[in-house]
Amino acid sequence: MLKNLETDLLIKGIRPTAMRLLVFDYLLHQKSAVSLNDLEANFEKSDRITLYRTIKTFQEKGLVHQIDDGTTSVKYALCSSSCSAQVCLDLHLHFYCRKCDKTFCLPKTRVPEIQLPEQYNAEEINLTIKGLCSNCTQ
Ligand SMILES: [Zn+2]
Ligand SMILES: [Zn+2]
Repeated sequence: MLKNLETDLLIKGIRPTAMRLLVFDYLLHQKSAVSLNDLEANFEKSDRITLYRTIKTFQEKGLVHQIDDGTTSVKYALCSSSCSAQVCLDLHLHFYCRKCDKTFCLPKTRVPEIQLPEQYNAEEINLTIKGLCSNCTQ
């Protein structure tokens, strides 16, 4: 199983160190986006800087994207395979649940094309919908 993860990292141009494989494996098993605090809580033996560097490497290589959900902590989630290094084409909406405090990717809900005035260059876009997730509305 870890062999496949290694291949996935190599395809993205990421050298598969033990730490990276563990973090990647962890991300694959999450249903909602994770913050650095979540990572730290899960990898008690690793220091925050190592975890931060790992996630930043993933981000630079287009393996994860950063989500600004309007809360105080930045969150990260895996990109779909259409993303390449530097350019994350994974432009989908995010959903923040105010009850369980989780942020979800909505990969099937694309960011609508937005017309900007001339000479405005968008560098990133973050659309987060807030409300109650499917678990919390039941
Ligand atoms: Zn919820
Ligand atoms: Zn996402």
